[in-house]
Amino acid sequence: MPCLLIDALDAPRGWDRATVVHARSPEIFEALGLEGRLLAQGVRTRAARFQSDGEVLGELNFGASGSRYGFDIGLSEEVTESVLTDFLESEGGTVTRLTRLIGLVRGDDAATATLERDGERREVVVPWVVGCDGVRSAVREAAGIEFPGAETKAKWAVFDATIEGWQNEYDVVFPHLDVPPVILSPLPGRRWRVYLRPTSDTSDLVAEAGEVIRRYQPGVAFAEIENPTRFQCHSRVAARYRSGRLLLAGDADHACTPEEGHGMNTGLQDAFNLGWKLALVYRGTAGVGLLDTYEAERRPVAERVVSSGAAVEIAQAMTDAVERAERDADIRRTYADPDLAHHEAAAAAEIDRSYPRSRAVAGDDGSEVGPGRLLPDTGNVEPVDGDPRPLHELTHRRGHTLIVLRGPQAETGRVGKLVTELEGLSGAVVDAVFGFCTRPGGPPVGRIDESVAAQLGVVGVTVLGVRPDRYIGVRDDSGDPGAVRAYLDALVS
Ligand SMILES: Cc1cc2nc3c(=O)[nH]c(=O)nc-3n(C[C@H](O)[C@H](O)[C@H](O)COP(=O)(O)OP(=O)(O)OC[C@H]3O[C@@H](n4cnc5c(N)ncnc54)[C@H](O)[C@@H]3O)c2cc1C
Repeated sequence: MPCLLIDALDAPRGWDRATVVHARSPEIFEALGLEGRLLAQGVRTRAARFQSDGEVLGELNFGASGSRYGFDIGLSEEVTESVLTDFLESEGGTVTRLTRLIGLVRGDDAATATLERDGERREVVVPWVVGCDGVRSAVREAAGIEFPGAETKAKWAVFDATIEGWQNEYDVVFPHLDVPPVILSPLPGRRWRVYLRPTSDTSDLVAEAGEVIRRYQPGVAFAEIENPTRFQCHSRVAARYRSGRLLLAGDADHACTPEEGHGMNTGLQDAFNLGWKLALVYRGTAGVGLLDTYEAERRPVAERVVSSGAAVEIAQAMTDAVERAERDADIRRTYADPDLAHHEAAAAAEIDRSYPRSRAVAGDDGSEVGPGRLLPDTGNVEPVDGDPRPLHELTHRRGHTLIVLRGPQAETGRVGKLVTELEGLSGAVVDAVFGFCTRPGGPPVGRIDESVAAQLGVVGVTVLGVRPDRYIGVRDDSGDPGAVRAYLDALVS
C-alpha cells in the first residue's frame, strides 16, 4: 500500500519510553528480516528476580516462555523506532516529519486530513487513516471514539544510571517490592533504567531509590545519572478501534502502566495484525468487514494488558505488612511451580495471545495448534527446494502460507495431490503452498520429522493455513481442500 506517514516531531523521541522488548516483538521483526539489528544493539535479559524485604522471592525465567527468543531485549525505544524507519526507507517509504495533523473530516469513501508544516496548511484526501498518534490521539478525537479509564493515583518516576559497586548480574530485571518499590531494568553498556514510585511529589528520587537497593547490596551507589523525572500513568482502552475510514493503533488505542513493559510491544502487534488486513481491503480483495476482526482480536488483548498492569501496580505499592506478606507468598508459590512459571513467562513474552473465536479464523477446534493460535516454533523441516529450516520461516510473507503435512498414518500420494489442488488457490490472499511427509515423497513434497508432526498433532493429512501474522487461520484434518477454500472465501467476503 502506498502511504503518507507523518510525524509532528523532527526525530524519534530519545527518552522516557520503552526499554523492554518482549519475545513476540523480535518474532515480528524476524518476519521482516530485522531481528539481527535488535539483537545486536540490545541486552539479552534472561530473567526477572523478585525481591522483597531483603530476600529473593523467586525468579521469572524468560526462557520458560516457549519462544525461540527466550529473553527480553533491553533497548531504548528510539533504536527500535529507527530500525523500523530504516526498513520503511529501504522499501521506498519515508516519514514526513515536522508535519502535524490538525483537522480530519470523515467521508463515506475517503477522509480529508488538514496537515500543517512550518505554518503552512494543506489538505490531503486519503482512503484510510491509521492514527498511531499516541495517548492524546487527534485521530481518535476526530473519530469521536471514547477513551474510558483512569489515571493511576500515585505518580511514577524514572531515571537512567550506572551502579557503582554492583556485584550482581547485568542481564536480569530486579523488581524490589519494598517501600517504595524500585525496579532496575537492564540497558546496553551496563546501565540501568530505574523505575520507582516516589514517596512524595518532592522527594529526592535518586536518594530514595538508592536507599532501597542498599538494603540488598550495602555500598552500591547510582552514578552517571540521567533525567530523573516524575510521570503519570493511565489505564485506558479505546471504546472502538475503527470508525468508518479511521483506524487506531498503539497508545492511541491503549494506555497502560510501564510496569510489565507491554505498551509498545502490544502496539507493534496491533500494527502487525492490522497491516495485512488493511492491505487486502485497500486492494479491493477483501471486504471492509475484515477490518472489524482487527478490533475483535486486539481490543481484548489491550483490556487484559491494562487490567493486569493495574493489578500489578496495586500489588507492588502495598504498604500494609499483612497484605505484603500474602503478596510475597503468592509470588514464591508462582515461580516455584513450573506450570505457573511457564504461563507467566508466555504471558510476559506475549506469545500466549490467541483469537480462537475471531471471524478471521475458521472455527475454534480447541487444539493447541488450532485456528486463532500462533504457529509454534518447531524443529527443522526440509522443503523440496531450499535448506532445512523451522516451519515458521516458511511463513515470513505478506500473504497466507498453506502447509500440507502428512503424518505417519496417512496414505501415500495424498499430499502431492493436495498441494497441487491448493496451488490453484494461490493469488491475492495465498502466497505459497508447501507439502511435507514423514516418509520420503519427492517433489512437490518435502520431509518433516515425526517429532515435528507429533508436536503439531498431525496423524493423517493436515492442512494449516497460516496468516501473515503467523496465526493459524484454518486447520483441516480431513484431507479435503474444501475447508481451506471456505476459510479463504469467508475471509475476503
Ligand atoms: C517511562 C516509560 C517506560 C515505558 N516502558 C515500556 C517498555 O519497557 N515496554 C513497552 O512495551 N512499552 C513501554 N512504555 C510504553 C511505550 O513507550 C508506548 O506504548 C509507546 O511509545 C507507544 O507508541 P505509539 O507509537 O503508539 O505512540 P507514541 O510513542 O506516543 O508516538 C506517537 C507519535 O505520534 C506523533 N503525533 C502525535 N500527534 C500527532 C499529530 N497530531 N500529527 C502528527 N504526529 C502526531 C508524535 O509526534 C509521536 O511521534 C513505556 C512508557 C513510558 C512512559
